Amino acid sequence: MQKLVKGIHSFQRGFFASHRALFEQLATTGQHPETLFITCSDSRVVPTLITDAAPGELFIVRNVGNVVPTADLPGGTAAAIQYAVEVLNVENVIVCGHTQCGALKAILDPQSVAHLEYVSRWVQSTIEVKNLIDEKYAHLSGEAKLTAAIQENVLAQLEHLRAYPFIAKRMDSGKLHLNGWIFDVGKGEVFDYDPEHGEFLPLR
Ligand SMILES: [Zn+2]
Repeated sequence: MQKLVKGIHSFQRGFFASHRALFEQLATTGQHPETLFITCSDSRVVPTLITDAAPGELFIVRNVGNVVPTADLPGGTAAAIQYAVEVLNVENVIVCGHTQCGALKAILDPQSVAHLEYVSRWVQSTIEVKNLIDEKYAHLSGEAKLTAAIQENVLAQLEHLRAYPFIAKRMDSGKLHLNGWIFDVGKGEVFDYDPEHGEFLPLR
């Protein structure tokens, strides 16, 4: 904890002091982020760091496994998505998964979290991803299966986004674009889903 307090002092003397005008402007004119960034709670994924984004640029939603609930399930994540799209008028939504995701490990092996009531219930809510992996990637194991699961999970969440009427409407009029990313924690690389090739390719 002491480290965080020191960090706040360091932020105030350093970054804040040298960007005071930006923070004052954000405080008076409000936020106008162009991007809704949906990612995992994992501490190794730091959206503003990996995108070099300034305060006010990313509207961020985080949960275990970067899950977008289906449109029939109201909740905090759905509320944040609607607010970002309908009120803040973001132009992009990025669903960003990451390597070594504990949520996906749990989805592949639900028994490993059976003793954790809330974690296992959350994991059960993504049963469609597990079913898809079992069907499509039964021949894979270990790292390869985990990688496939991380990718399929991002694609499943993009599908959920498209099923929200206010998102479909904006996509149809070209005002909103969806992107699927994977952040490689160990390499610092970001992979972007290319619908044309049907695979995740290094972001250029
Ligand atoms: Zn994760």
